[in-house]
Amino acid sequence: MIDASLYDRCVRCGLCLTSCPTYTETMTETSGPRGRISLMKAVAEGELSEDAPGYVAQMSECLGCRACEAACPSGVPYGELIEAARASLHERAVANPARPPKRGGRELSLLLNAVERPSWLHAGARLLRFAQRSGAFAIARRIGLLRALGLEGAARMAPPIDAHFEIPDDAVLRASASRGRAFLHLGCIAQCSSTGIHRAAIKLLLLAGLDVVRPSEQRCCGALAAHAGELERARALARANITAFERSGADVVAIDAAGCGAQCKGYGHLLADDPAWAARAKAFSERVRDISEILAACELPAPSIPLAARVAYQEPCHLVHAQRITNAPKRLLATIPGIELVPLEEATLCCGGAGVYAIGEPEMSARLRERKADAIRRSGASVIASANIGCMLQLRDAIAPLQVRHVVELLADAYA
Ligand code: SF4
Ligand code: SF4
Repeated sequence: MIDASLYDRCVRCGLCLTSCPTYTETMTETSGPRGRISLMKAVAEGELSEDAPGYVAQMSECLGCRACEAACPSGVPYGELIEAARASLHERAVANPARPPKRGGRELSLLLNAVERPSWLHAGARLLRFAQRSGAFAIARRIGLLRALGLEGAARMAPPIDAHFEIPDDAVLRASASRGRAFLHLGCIAQCSSTGIHRAAIKLLLLAGLDVVRPSEQRCCGALAAHAGELERARALARANITAFERSGADVVAIDAAGCGAQCKGYGHLLADDPAWAARAKAFSERVRDISEILAACELPAPSIPLAARVAYQEPCHLVHAQRITNAPKRLLATIPGIELVPLEEATLCCGGAGVYAIGEPEMSARLRERKADAIRRSGASVIASANIGCMLQLRDAIAPLQVRHVVELLADAYA
């Protein structure tokens, strides 16, 4: 239950409006943070029904990017408010199955079931890889089969699946002169589609003198479930990750996906009302670091292999707004010899990826992707750097033939 006084922290100054992607796209008050907070407050005070179509639509249209939270001088914890609003909508839907399902609800539910069960996830990814490589996937989309099955949204977001997955195992990877131990969180879909990023992260952590563990007990961070309002699912996943970390003997949790990092840093909040877990969750969250924070704080040897490229850094919402990290990735990129960092307009504006946003809100997601792609083309960059796997997947096709690569991939390539 959210503290009702949090709504009153909003003094309606409007200073957050120009940071909000959906407001700047629509110039509509209800599509901005101030309007959404008013709607949530009206529901909390019983003046508006949760079933009001405009309310349901606005809770869905919000990206959860938290740009408004970072811009707000009154300290409105917007992320907590939207999470609670979505959780309430979800509970209401569960209690009353006769209500109309939310947009993309069926696909989302399928996805959430898969990501919390590694064996399902890996089997589904292998099937998807076979379909992608044989051409069956493209044909099924072209003839409308996936649309008919109600899977078009998930199909639109499906990443290319790698041949070999980076699956958690209990081996300890040892640094030559160990100064500590890092627990590398491998995410869920990223285990099957972003293995090069994880391998780059491992290479850099070892270079930084940290042993690396990737315990098999780890699970999806729970961000997708939390964004869908399914907080009990998210809490169960959080408990599994906390237990895995406690048993691992690691000093720090290293995360190479900004969305997962923001979620794991929020476990203390997520489990604050659970007496058995609150202290453990808080202790866990205090150990979570984005990979760029860890590497920027270490004395890495100077990279030696040059990268002759103009690189623009796209700042992921869940790194810059939710975790307030902006300098560390840029500092790491600047150490690569030959690199030219070029500015990117609206670098901190959401690209429309926002987890599984495109399943429920395909039009707004596409508008924001195109806005970002235009800014990227104007930047004159030949490579786009990011620090979030979701943003990379969202932008990849829109900016082709330009490449989008993770900061750790670019940095790892600069070492022999
Ligand atoms: S959320 Fe913050 S910045 Fe936005 S209108 Fe309210 S007080 Fe002002
Ligand atoms: S979280 Fe992002 S999309 Fe939602 S109101 Fe805030 S700035 Fe706008």
